Amino acid sequence: MSARATPYLDDLNPAQREAVEAMDGPVLMLAGAGTGKTKALTARIVHLLNTGRARPNEILAVTFTNKAAKEMKNRVSRMLGAPVEGMPWLGTFHAICVKLLRRHAELVGLKSNFTILDTDDQIRLLKQVIAANDIDEKRWPARQLAGIIDHWKNRAWTPSNVPNAEASAFNNRGTELYDQYQRRLLELNATDFGDLLLHVVTIFQTHPDVLEQYQRWFRYILVDEYQDTNVAQYLWLRLLAGAHKNICCVGDDDQSIYGWRGAEVGNILRFEKDFPGAKVVRLEQNYRSTEHILAAAAGVIRGNEGRLGKELWTEAEGGEKVRLIGHWDGEEEARWIGEEIEATQKGTRGMAPKSLDSMAILVRASHQMRAFEDRFLTIGLPYRVIGGPRFYERLEIRDAMAYFRLVVSPSDDLAFERIVNTPKRGLGDKKQQDIQVIARRNGVPLIEGARILLAEGGITGKGAGELRALVDNLDRWSRMTGHADVSHIELAEMILDESGYTTMWQNDKTPEAPGRLENLKELVKALENFDNLQGFLEHVSLIMDNETDEAGAKVSIMTLHAAKGLEFPVVFLPGWEDGLFPSQRSMDESGLKGLEEERRLAYVGITRAEEVCTISFAGNRRVFGQWQSQLPSRFIDELPQEHVEVLTPPGLYGGGYGAAAPGFEGITSTIDQKVAQTNVYNSPGWQRMQARAGNRPVSQPRETRSQVIDLEAVSAYTVGDRVFHQKFGYGAVTGIEGDKLDIDFEKAGSKKVVAKFVMASND
Ligand code: ATP
Ligand code: MG
Repeated sequence: MSARATPYLDDLNPAQREAVEAMDGPVLMLAGAGTGKTKALTARIVHLLNTGRARPNEILAVTFTNKAAKEMKNRVSRMLGAPVEGMPWLGTFHAICVKLLRRHAELVGLKSNFTILDTDDQIRLLKQVIAANDIDEKRWPARQLAGIIDHWKNRAWTPSNVPNAEASAFNNRGTELYDQYQRRLLELNATDFGDLLLHVVTIFQTHPDVLEQYQRWFRYILVDEYQDTNVAQYLWLRLLAGAHKNICCVGDDDQSIYGWRGAEVGNILRFEKDFPGAKVVRLEQNYRSTEHILAAAAGVIRGNEGRLGKELWTEAEGGEKVRLIGHWDGEEEARWIGEEIEATQKGTRGMAPKSLDSMAILVRASHQMRAFEDRFLTIGLPYRVIGGPRFYERLEIRDAMAYFRLVVSPSDDLAFERIVNTPKRGLGDKKQQDIQVIARRNGVPLIEGARILLAEGGITGKGAGELRALVDNLDRWSRMTGHADVSHIELAEMILDESGYTTMWQNDKTPEAPGRLENLKELVKALENFDNLQGFLEHVSLIMDNETDEAGAKVSIMTLHAAKGLEFPVVFLPGWEDGLFPSQRSMDESGLKGLEEERRLAYVGITRAEEVCTISFAGNRRVFGQWQSQLPSRFIDELPQEHVEVLTPPGLYGGGYGAAAPGFEGITSTIDQKVAQTNVYNSPGWQRMQARAGNRPVSQPRETRSQVIDLEAVSAYTVGDRVFHQKFGYGAVTGIEGDKLDIDFEKAGSKKVVAKFVMASND
């Protein structure tokens, strides 16, 4: 094939060209964000095809997500000026390994039509294995074992080569159970996610002929986001590239953000050792972001030790500084960002109007999405959530909502089915079927069916006790709706606690569990904007109705992890508060490893922005109905001052909060706002920031009418204290009993209320 024209090379700078044109032998492109690594990698594929070095199906190209694979395929077609017919081996590690494993399944004892278990199936199977070994699953939960096995698979350890150092895992039984689990999988002709890679590595290691076949077939290997490969992936690559060594990896040590999932940034450093004579290309020009954005990102990442250290520059001088703004709480932050997006859409601060597609909100934790989704629904702003379900679609949220639905309408059978055995109540499929049959026969809802089953003695033992407790609880909770003494927020907390649902996740040792608990807290927080459960449920069904994925421009909401490799003209980075970002876990850890990974995440976030980057934090977040004051993230302190513009939050100098706080009315609203103001502007972080930015001193709110008593401070109440309750107004404490207070309210009379729902008052 004769070489065709190469317009795609003209778009590259000399260093990129070098990486593209050096077709044979190992190449490592190690460069910072936005320097055109992915672009060069794509051009390299085009060049290999164009010069006839390889046919489309002889190129193995690994991307981090399926979305990235699709984009790369499109880009190749565009650069080539013709659609590529099939690049079957362009995809994620997993997608590629599924294909390989289907071809050679029998070599590891599987059939080619093996099934891939999802997490739920995997857990179910592990439970069976644990039970078969007479181990108490309550003390040694299946999810914990799943985490351990996953960790081992990421390191390419089969049951027989888990190192001795790990022998104590899972009460000394880990390795043995891992072995049994693998056998069960084979019997079921199934694999879990981690197996896909592990089996293929095993096949390559034990069948040199098969390995050789692929070493010959994949003439060229390319890998994007190389810094996030784990040991198993690394081994797999090294085996495949071992003969011809035509491997090109691109990555950025500063963007390694999957250490918690077993990725090893050390793989980058080992590359030159494993592939001696590798051509190492460094790229330093950033084509994505303006000067200030780049400098701000550089300022933050400089705080990490042991970096390879790369300096970036851009021709895009000037532009806007990174904008920094503090809000009094998370709802206000969401409201403000919504307004900014609408303004940007129309054109603001001298900028041309921008499409919603060019804007993104990148959050640290998925529970942060809820405030934005609610707000955008209210103002009718189209959005999409990338890389995960929307907030109200999450498993734990759907479960919790099913409980709420049942309490509001006991005949909601779908909700009943969903939660009758979640958490586990010893009700197997058979018993659940019995309930269905009885309900159908009598023409009554499932909950009634359950009652009949109990009355008829059709169920005995542990299951009977738990089912009765559930049915009775549901009744009791239903009676409490609309009860003046119990707010719907208290009721929701009660339901989640008493049903055992919260406990289920507290006992769960998987990495996702803390996030799910956060989401549940966030769900309760969302209730504060509504008068009762019913209103809330209606709101959510409205959101779900809005699901239809109609075309048209939309703002993107996603986690920082999901934003890797992407770019947007306008980026919002909310929630920069210690404990949220960096995460509490990383701050509690001894050593700097976790914190440094968070800092890389901050670097990834800022470097997604092309023109406008806005960082924000809230001075207060409400957790379970109480204010928690937040400190601005330590990463904010690390932003170089000369590249940052501190914005004045609305309402600070007498500006109105107006409709800032939906759901708060009258006096409550005033007090809450003042509380918030007090906390935000008294916080040391805020004062520090203002001082640095050279702003005039912040005046205190005119008067502080109340202070917030948090849970720990409950004992601070004494008989005779004057307090304020959102619903019942002012009153005096007449008695104290644990976390409950007897209060004589001026208008509402004597009541017992949970202490955390009142505020001390000086009025
Ligand atoms: P990340 O580390 O975030 O994945 P990256 O190094 O992969 O970034 P790319 O996404 O390839 O960077 O490129 C960033 C932007 O710069 C893209 O919009 C790309 O089109 C543009 N770009 C890359 N190289 C050049 C170049 N030589 N000339 C002009 N634009 C370029
Ligand atoms: Mg990239």
